[in-house]
Amino acid sequence: MEKTYAVAIDGPAGAGKSTLARLLAQELGWYYVDTGAIYRTVAYFLDLLGISPKDADGVARYIDEVNVEIRYDDQGAQHMWMNGMDVTEEIRTPDISQKASLVSAHPAVRQALLELQRDLAKRHNVVMDGRDIGTVVLPQAAVKLFLTASPEVRAQRRYAELQAKGKKDAYEQVLEDLRRRDRQDTTRSVAPLRQAPDAVLLDTTELDIPQTLAAMRAIVREKTGL
Ligand code: C5P
Repeated sequence: MEKTYAVAIDGPAGAGKSTLARLLAQELGWYYVDTGAIYRTVAYFLDLLGISPKDADGVARYIDEVNVEIRYDDQGAQHMWMNGMDVTEEIRTPDISQKASLVSAHPAVRQALLELQRDLAKRHNVVMDGRDIGTVVLPQAAVKLFLTASPEVRAQRRYAELQAKGKKDAYEQVLEDLRRRDRQDTTRSVAPLRQAPDAVLLDTTELDIPQTLAAMRAIVREKTGL
């Protein structure tokens, strides 16, 4: 099999990971893999079954019942399929964000989803974003980036996204949800969100998208020669 390259991008919610990872993947002509969407799909499935995301036994009992697939459309956009159904839109709600964060803390869930993620990186050049890509999923990734920004700026970005979709959530609520998710994601015992020792830190608080993308491009070039 040909050698594949991976760019691993980790960081808290709202740091700009998915927008930037998508743009970088487009430029490189690589696959963009949004791993948060995988956890969201599992959270959505368990929610439909009425299983609480905190119920470790229930989650472990039903995790094998969900078949998560990633498919790409003609434009290269990632779609999430849950047991043969496209749930790409349904998983993008603040409620599922919270539930995904709780569901993803269970070792049984992380274990079940590990191979899916590694397999994609084995078969394709990828830009993969999430919380544990550089630390757990792809520790050998050629490039590791850790994207962050102040909680207020991250909440402001999320708030603007929700407004653009016509959602009426208050900014204070968005900020509170984000802080709660940060707390859950960084303090869980399995694969907590943290910067890999060999990851390059990019604080996007005062950077716009083109500036951040330029910085990422330079790091990729330096690390891979591509
Ligand atoms: O990135 P996104 O906000 O879509 O992720 C939803 C949740 O999924 C995160 O809050 C985090 O708890 C979980 N997640 C994870 N590991 C990843 C990606 C996401 O635990 N690699």
